[in-house]
Amino acid sequence: MEMKFIADSNVGKLAKWLRMMGYDARFFEGSNDSQMVAIALAENRVILTRDTQIMRRRLVTSGQLKAILIQSNNPEQQMRQVIDILELDCQFQPFSICLECNQSLLERSREQVKDLVPPYVFQTQNQYMECPACHRIYWRGTHWQAMTKNLEKFIKGAAQENTDLRNK
Ligand SMILES: [Zn+2]
Repeated sequence: MEMKFIADSNVGKLAKWLRMMGYDARFFEGSNDSQMVAIALAENRVILTRDTQIMRRRLVTSGQLKAILIQSNNPEQQMRQVIDILELDCQFQPFSICLECNQSLLERSREQVKDLVPPYVFQTQNQYMECPACHRIYWRGTHWQAMTKNLEKFIKGAAQENTDLRNK
């Protein structure tokens, strides 16, 4: 079953990184923990939080609800922690989810986006995706490549650290 997430406002960057990997990751902006827990339960989402209170809830301690207590302040280290714990590398599917609204992207042909993207993009790119909610168009430009490279670095780095630990 595909893993889904809900990230609270302290680890909001994580939601974006996970979307970049192709995961459905909701961002919870509210401050009502009970509401976030209710959403996680109803939608079967893993909670990502820096709030130790959430980890003490019975739904979490009993294992009914999965939650990860994020250790670091640094978004890159936060991402490493999540990748490590959940071994996320095998489901790497960049740019299948809108980074802004967490909707599944739809494939679009070149013709369909002709008037929606800058001419230089239209000249050089063949693959496009569109968000059905905000109608942003995504393509495999340099921004995409840079982000994909960053993700690969995290994943490799995380795997390397695991190997290092085992070898000690
Ligand atoms: Zn969108």
